[in-house]
Amino acid sequence: LIESIRAEIRKTVPPEQYDQWFSRMEISSITDNSITFAVPGDSIKNRICADYLEFISSIVYKLLHPSFEIDIISAEKPAITTQMQLQSKDNDISNANASSMNIVSLSSINKRYTFENFVVAAYNRMAHAAAVSVAGSPGYAYNPLFIHGASGLGKTHLMHAINNFILQQGRLKTFYLSCEHFVNHYISAIQSNNMEAFRKFYRNVDVLLMDDIQFFENSYGSREEFFHTFNALYNDGKQIVITSNYPPESIAYMEDRLVSRFKWGLVCGISTPSLETRAAIVEKRAAAWNIKVSHESAVYLAENIPGNIRELEGAIARLSNEAKATNNAVSFDFIRKVSREISGSKKTVSIEAVLGAISKKFNVSVSELLSKRRTRTVALPRQIAMHLSRKLTNMSLTEIGGYLGGRDHSTVIHGDETIIKKAGNDKNLSFIIQKLEGELLK
Ligand code: ADP
Ligand code: MG
Repeated sequence: LIESIRAEIRKTVPPEQYDQWFSRMEISSITDNSITFAVPGDSIKNRICADYLEFISSIVYKLLHPSFEIDIISAEKPAITTQMQLQSKDNDISNANASSMNIVSLSSINKRYTFENFVVAAYNRMAHAAAVSVAGSPGYAYNPLFIHGASGLGKTHLMHAINNFILQQGRLKTFYLSCEHFVNHYISAIQSNNMEAFRKFYRNVDVLLMDDIQFFENSYGSREEFFHTFNALYNDGKQIVITSNYPPESIAYMEDRLVSRFKWGLVCGISTPSLETRAAIVEKRAAAWNIKVSHESAVYLAENIPGNIRELEGAIARLSNEAKATNNAVSFDFIRKVSREISGSKKTVSIEAVLGAISKKFNVSVSELLSKRRTRTVALPRQIAMHLSRKLTNMSLTEIGGYLGGRDHSTVIHGDETIIKKAGNDKNLSFIIQKLEGELLK
């Protein structure tokens, strides 16, 4: 991440200034809604705070989409986060390694993500049950546990829930980190010639929770290193939990030997929650925030903020502010306003762009995509259009269906789900879709 941020900064800031202010900037910690950067010394910190805070914030937004609060601290040495310090109290090896290796922010614990406040429904029942089993008997239930699903559907929540549960028992050393952190850590270990310590550190945990493994992408070295870490932990009966936005075999760049290991335990997918389930989540969340939301409003929100639970939560957070101001009664008008703002502020793609990209890729005309023809050469691209339109545009299911030659919303759902299923079993198709998506989001 820091590399991508630096690259963005370099695009705009002249080299001398870059060298002076940003070349030694590191990420000190990341939480759900804030990123803290560490820079060497107060004068650099003050200068960045004065002149570049907005700029960095916009870069982070561009790279990560949700807005994060940005904080700059001055630190001669990068900070090491708390879990590692907690865990290494009785373990001076990893403490010594940590500082000597220049590890920047490794593990974060999110106390809010527990099993208690996770809503279970058909779409995530299996993943939830598996996570509960793993938390109850790490190393014995399913190893590794591999959870995949689209963004915002609760993978990270489940991982933290496992972590929190095990930490409560207090006997095992757990380590939660994102794949990006692993890659950064690996790179810094190489640079400081400290692989020995790196390996010791990872092989010393009882439970390794690695989030978003798709971010390994083009870092062959770190995948190789992870392969060895995996083997060492697995052979010692240590629990491994992995998440990804795609099933193992569909992750671009993933070597077969890793893919096959990921399948040794249990692979489970989280699909898209149904409208009713999302409405139920809205109601439950609203109740937890002590906001009265009518069933009609909950359904409206669920319908208009499709797919992603993270965004629904953002909407509820907005409602909560309004509720405070209006004695808990949130009007339907306000709900409509919030949902418009949220779906309108999303980075989205037009359906025309989706169809254009698909038409080019599959060599079928847009009018064929909209037509009633159902031969395979048209049907598959059309279903991909449904999938990508649902994922990337602001349009409702009914609108997408309408645009695509007057089909109804259930046809769009069917097309979308067919593609998700097919892509899960077909690496080629999955690559094509990932590429189309990447191009459209550029
Ligand atoms: P992912 O890691 O799959 O992108 P997250 O775990 O970050 O998704 O979930 C996004 C947000 O939605 C989090 O705030 C999480 O607490 C919430 N969330 C997701 N699924 C559920 C669920 N089934 N019940 C309650 N909250 C959920
Ligand atoms: Mg996540």
